[in-house]
Amino acid sequence: MAQMSKNARNSSATQTFNCPCGGEIKMKSLFVSGKLKNVAECQKCNRQERKPRDFR
Ligand SMILES: [Zn+2]
Repeated sequence: MAQMSKNARNSSATQTFNCPCGGEIKMKSLFVSGKLKNVAECQKCNRQERKPRDFR
């Protein structure tokens, strides 16, 4: 794997997770009831979970 960045300052930096379907999981930020909420969404099957780890 190529190293994109070693910059650890940003805690919301890119992490890659994969859905059981093989799709790539991306984090999305949504505003729900006036609050910023992060959800993880599979790019392939569009499944959404609260955390990327919930896909396993
Ligand atoms: Zn999926």
